[in-house]
Amino acid sequence: MKSAEIRQAFLTFFEEQGHTIVPTSSLVPGNDPTLLFTNAGMVPFKDVFLGRDPRPYVRATSAQRCVRAGGKHNDLDNVGYTARHHTFFEMLGNFSFGDYFKRDAIRFAWVFLTETLGLPKDKLWVTVHISDDEAERIWKDEIGIDPERFSKLDEDNFWQMGDTGPCGPSSEIFFDHGPEVWGGPPGSPEEDGDRYIEIWNLVFMQFDRDAQGTLNPLPKPSIDTGMGLERVAAVMQGVHSNYEIDLFQNLLQAAAKATGHPDTATPSLRVIADHIRSCAFLIADGVLPSNEGRGYVLRRIIRRAIRHGHKLGAVEPFFHKLVEALDAEMGDAYPELREASDQIARVLLKEEEQFARTLDHGMGLLNAALAELDGKVLPGETVFKLYDTYGFPFDLTADVCRERGVSLDEDGFQQALEAQRERARAASQFGADYSASIELEGETAFTGYDRLEDQAKVT
Ligand code: ATP
Ligand code: MG
Ligand code: MG
Ligand code: MG
Repeated sequence: MKSAEIRQAFLTFFEEQGHTIVPTSSLVPGNDPTLLFTNAGMVPFKDVFLGRDPRPYVRATSAQRCVRAGGKHNDLDNVGYTARHHTFFEMLGNFSFGDYFKRDAIRFAWVFLTETLGLPKDKLWVTVHISDDEAERIWKDEIGIDPERFSKLDEDNFWQMGDTGPCGPSSEIFFDHGPEVWGGPPGSPEEDGDRYIEIWNLVFMQFDRDAQGTLNPLPKPSIDTGMGLERVAAVMQGVHSNYEIDLFQNLLQAAAKATGHPDTATPSLRVIADHIRSCAFLIADGVLPSNEGRGYVLRRIIRRAIRHGHKLGAVEPFFHKLVEALDAEMGDAYPELREASDQIARVLLKEEEQFARTLDHGMGLLNAALAELDGKVLPGETVFKLYDTYGFPFDLTADVCRERGVSLDEDGFQQALEAQRERARAASQFGADYSASIELEGETAFTGYDRLEDQAKVT
């Protein structure tokens, strides 16, 4: 089954169960300035769960574009290292706003997986929250799940969108990719492996967490579920990694061509193929590269992609060239992407040209510093210099260090950053425009913000 067919089968299944199909929303949440990006299918429905946004339906289903590259759900550092994480992905979801609750949510999920998709029951593993005897009873007595493949866990089974907002205990469904893959079942010491991959999360929405951390009951218990399209596609297409599914093949080929590196299984090419999706969709949704907030997250992802291309030997700008392949792959499902594709390519090319001027020098400095390193920790001063002079976001330097098995001194970096801010403050007291004096080939060097927490107070 192709990804597009799975997406359609899901929406049709839930439409047949009385759900209204709701079109996907922007990656920039319109209803929540505290949230960085739409990171789950429930985000556009947040106020509906809270009882503040009445809708003409009590059941909805959607295929929502999501980005997890900062804030509470940040998978940027997983990309290139796991088989299952992207910065951009599509989340298939069904929602009940005070209508059905646990019993139907569990039954719908089970029927869709085992009947519509025809997945073997003995490959599916299930978890519920440690306190949730009701969900346990439904899974064991009504669905008949084998207790061998069932467990009750704590933190992993409590879902929240951010530090505040709707949340509740959850039930997760995993697919066992078989003993060839390293990893243990959920709750085991080896669960971080990629053998048992979580495909669907059913959240029993019961609370609204306020700014003080208090859990207030929602007006009506509700349901929010999310299933990663790319992960189910991998299962349905008999491959282990998300990057081996149909959707990624042409993108990987295009990335191979643009960088001149032919082996599409190379992690760097996978990172690039992942990053073109998040960058292009963010630009299509109106985010532009900048030095703060959402724009800085976008800039960090773009620069990371460029660095991976550089690592593969690309000397010319290559990243913007992938927009065409992405449009061919996803433009039918996302007309807003198609419409913006020329502009996306222009924005990316400009960013590539700008960063190319300093990337080479920065990598030279970093390589030299790494070669000289006696201990295993890159000094904070070096990280700061890369950031300040060469435009290397902190996480980009961290990415390189991780590849080389070296850690870096984040505290030292933060201290250097703070010292620079102090100097800037002191200088501005005398009316001098300090930041203008560190202008770097047309690009003002960064004067702040690297940890997301420092930015626009987003969660
Ligand atoms: P994991 O534990 O594997 O990181 P999660 O528990 O963080 O996943 P949820 O927040 O429950 O994920 O999101 C619902 C579903 O969305 C997941 O079950 C998975 O199928 C999918 N999903 C989550 N994060 C990603 C990602 N970074 N890339 C692709 N799919 C994802
Ligand atoms: Mg996660
Ligand atoms: Mg999980
Ligand atoms: Mg989950």
